[in-house]
Amino acid sequence: MWGKFGSVEAAKQVFEKISEQDHIGWTVMINSYGLNGMGDEAVKIFHQMPKESIDHLTYICVLNACSHSGLVDVARSIFNDIQTKTEIIYTTMIDCLSRAAAFEEAQKLIEQFERDHAPAVSIYTALLSGARNQKNSKLLQEVVDRMQKLFPNMKDSLLAASILLANVYASSDDIGKATDIKIELHKSGGKKQIGVTVTDIDGKLWKFRAHDRSHAESAEIHEQVDRMSKRIIEHGHKIIEHGHKYDASWIVRPIEPDETIETLLCGHSERLAMAAHFIHNRKPKRIQMTMNLRICGDCHEVTKLVALIYQCDIVVRDANHIHHFRLNGQCSCQDYF
Ligand SMILES: [Zn+2]
Ligand SMILES: [Zn+2]
Repeated sequence: MWGKFGSVEAAKQVFEKISEQDHIGWTVMINSYGLNGMGDEAVKIFHQMPKESIDHLTYICVLNACSHSGLVDVARSIFNDIQTKTEIIYTTMIDCLSRAAAFEEAQKLIEQFERDHAPAVSIYTALLSGARNQKNSKLLQEVVDRMQKLFPNMKDSLLAASILLANVYASSDDIGKATDIKIELHKSGGKKQIGVTVTDIDGKLWKFRAHDRSHAESAEIHEQVDRMSKRIIEHGHKIIEHGHKYDASWIVRPIEPDETIETLLCGHSERLAMAAHFIHNRKPKRIQMTMNLRICGDCHEVTKLVALIYQCDIVVRDANHIHHFRLNGQCSCQDYF
């Protein structure tokens, strides 16, 4: 439990007190290190574990830990030793390779998987995320085309894949292709989940949606976002990319007619939540937030700089990771997320 809330030290103490470290205890510890971006520690525990305690779940947790810490070689050697490789084990390994931009190897592994399994959408989604992170629009297009052939009825997965592709085209200045996809999405009525961040300020829970203006203090919160953006830019936050002011590949839903790339990104709910903390307490020492989606690349950079500039410890739990933004401006995930 503690591992999931970011207190890996507490988890470790509990673990060390369990006299008979059963396989659940070991696996929970590996998972806890993995979630907190401490892949080396997770691997260490894995190698200390008695062989007979290692099961399917252990493999998934240790591969996932490697994936989030960029330990590709370690993951590869663990993967090769696994006797029974399930779909989820393949998915985790392909996620690891894709995050490290080892796309050729990832695709070979998919071929290997499909020799004796039916194609799995989760595997293609893992490959897509990696291609998105690398802004590899050629590979993305190939994967999306293949997904459309293989999984014609999986509307949600196809929609998410098309949005990713459109956004990568938009950030590579291929606005024509991006617009074509977005028009198609609009026609098919595709709607994507909107980002929500929840945080506790002085004992009260606050909920922020992207572009939220529903709070009594919304005007003040948006002013604070602007002030923080200025300070961050002074500290050299990279804002010119591909001729756009922001990195557009991270937008996770189609752009509405009255929105620009810039307003979409600045409306991110986690920044509103951070700004609200700074309004209520001018010098917060620690901020904790929970998001329903994966943190976007731009917000991840911004949050690192907020932690550094304002000397505030920030913990963000997003849809698949816990990020500890530390006072030195680094995140525990080491930018693998
Ligand atoms: Zn964001
Ligand atoms: Zn992070």
